[in-house]
Amino acid sequence: MNPSNKSGEASVFFITSEELLNWSRSSSLWPLTFGLACCAIEMMGAMASNYDLERFGIFPRPSPRQSDIMIVSGTVTYKMADRIRRLYEQMSEPRYVISMGSCANCGGPYWQHGYHVVKGVDKIIPVDVYVPGCPPRPEALIDGFLKLQEKIRAEHPLTGDKPTPAIPTPAEENKTA
Ligand code: SF4
Repeated sequence: MNPSNKSGEASVFFITSEELLNWSRSSSLWPLTFGLACCAIEMMGAMASNYDLERFGIFPRPSPRQSDIMIVSGTVTYKMADRIRRLYEQMSEPRYVISMGSCANCGGPYWQHGYHVVKGVDKIIPVDVYVPGCPPRPEALIDGFLKLQEKIRAEHPLTGDKPTPAIPTPAEENKTA
């Protein structure tokens, strides 16, 4: 890069190709538009004009094939687990997951007696950032995005791959609870 500054002097920036890659990836996060329960309302609030997520390069997309982030906002039931994983697998690499709210993080209020609820979406797909709260406010989700940007900038995109854990059965889930 060789842009001129205001004084007319030429400036030269040295940057590795990996840093450039990470900078471009972290500055253009495209989350998949879907929600599961009440947390999704806060996610929609974060996407609205009041918070202006596009200033961070965050731009919601309607298709998993155009997205690189999944925000799991709400209660993950066993019925939905397969759909969530399928959407995740349809997303292009590199892809990231933000678990938003107590339900997605660990089962939330359904932790003890919710036999139909997966006790954490990380049992289905790998999670990069957990946003706590019931529900988390839009500011908390924005903080989650900033944490994810930090994580992406520290990555080495030319090495390593994230494993996908197996979906547990309700019986296995209750055994470990
Ligand atoms: S964490 Fe709370 S607000 Fe979010 S989906 Fe669960 S019950 Fe609803």
